[in-house]
Amino acid sequence: MVVGSGVVGVTTAYELARRGHQVTVLDRHSLAGNETSKGNAAQRSYGVVYPWADPAMVFKALPWLFQASGPLKMKMPPSPEAIRFMMATLRYAWSPGLFGLNKRAMLRLGVHSRERFLALEQDHNLGFDGQHLGLLHLASTPQAMEGYKAIHELLEEMGIGSRLLSPAQVKDVEPGMTGDGPLYGAIRYDTDGTGDCHLFSRALANVCEQLGVRFRYQVDVERLIADDSRVQAVQLRTDDGGLETLEADAFVICAGCWSGQLVRPLGMDLPIYPIKGYSITVPLDDPSKAPVSTVHDDQLKVVSTRLGNRLRATGFVELADFNRDVPAARIATIKRSVQSRFPGCADLSAAETWTGFRPMTPDGPAIIGKVSRDNLFLNTGHGTFGWTLSAGSAAVIAQVIDGEQPAVPLDPFRPSRFAE
Ligand SMILES: Cc1cc2nc3c(=O)[nH]c(=O)nc-3n(C[C@H](O)[C@H](O)[C@H](O)COP(=O)(O)OP(=O)(O)OC[C@H]3O[C@@H](n4cnc5c(N)ncnc54)[C@H](O)[C@@H]3O)c2cc1C
Repeated sequence: MVVGSGVVGVTTAYELARRGHQVTVLDRHSLAGNETSKGNAAQRSYGVVYPWADPAMVFKALPWLFQASGPLKMKMPPSPEAIRFMMATLRYAWSPGLFGLNKRAMLRLGVHSRERFLALEQDHNLGFDGQHLGLLHLASTPQAMEGYKAIHELLEEMGIGSRLLSPAQVKDVEPGMTGDGPLYGAIRYDTDGTGDCHLFSRALANVCEQLGVRFRYQVDVERLIADDSRVQAVQLRTDDGGLETLEADAFVICAGCWSGQLVRPLGMDLPIYPIKGYSITVPLDDPSKAPVSTVHDDQLKVVSTRLGNRLRATGFVELADFNRDVPAARIATIKRSVQSRFPGCADLSAAETWTGFRPMTPDGPAIIGKVSRDNLFLNTGHGTFGWTLSAGSAAVIAQVIDGEQPAVPLDPFRPSRFAE
């Protein structure tokens, strides 16, 4: 039984079905990939993945809180949950050596995820505007370019392709980038890609159904029914208000930001906090003026991504609990970045807006593994990189469930780490 049909739940169901398990997926939405997996930045950024608790960001990020278009926002006064999350973040950020260890672990999972995506795309015709055409992080200052050198060296050491580009080389790679935003070069992540996570989730859910997976939509899982050793069943509420109990041999929680609520009654604290972000999606008027792949504008911290004949642009890291408002100022900043890099590519006044919540852990790595009940597993808390890491983390949780050695060391992702 898989709780959650976001990209993480659907990929998990797929891997389990492929291994011969009988799988049921439960979700309160009426279709797959319809929550955080719906309108994200669409990057499959295997070479970029990094932990949230970054010691280098602690003092750098603080001034952003006070700049009108700064990428970091916090609802004032912050809630007790936001304060607790930020305090835990600081503790992890200042744990010597932890950032580097976690980053390497996430990069290893990224490499595996890419392999799994390539295999999936070979085996099934999924139609999700997916590409692997690389990813650019622009340098709008000379200092940013300096910083990219260390990243390039780490990736070289790990055998992950990246290149430092001059401004002229950037224009060769992204000829539509004719705007007047400052440019001192870029780092290109050669192996990275893009794709519409929502379309992918729906298409893979269809494949899952062909493999025998049963999807139950519009059901709210209210609680896990468990004793001290096992989970016996889930209690769910159907959309007509009825209560149902469903039994299974094993349970995988892939419920994103809502995972903690399900396991808390079993004595487990999952400190996942919803980090809000925003996106716009708009049809392209002139594809030659649009990104070829995906471009991160380091000045406004906005990502512009090509999805077939559409542009998706995304930004902001906001601590506002589960507030779903979309302030006009946030969307204006995202549009300003697009204008300054890809002017004329689309009529931005026609853009659809979206907001969603990254299921963030205070250190950064996702939570993948078995927990204190024999048949209860977690694949959740993927934060900023759940789309990128979905295919890989689904493959490794399926290995854990089948009692095999996971393809990637999972110690940094262990669920028990928050209680240690
Ligand atoms: C602005 C923004 C930009 C992003 N950009 C990128 C990017 O470029 N690349 C990348 O890799 N990642 C990106 N992410 C992160 C990525 O979108 C998430 O990590 C990923 O979508 C998480 O997937 P998930 O399946 O864990 O969660 P979700 O997609 O949220 O799915 C969880 C599902 O569980 C269901 N659920 C929860 N509780 C219950 C319950 N009790 N009963 C029934 N159903 C339940 C929910 O309805 C939901 O459908 C971005 C996120 C945001 C917000």
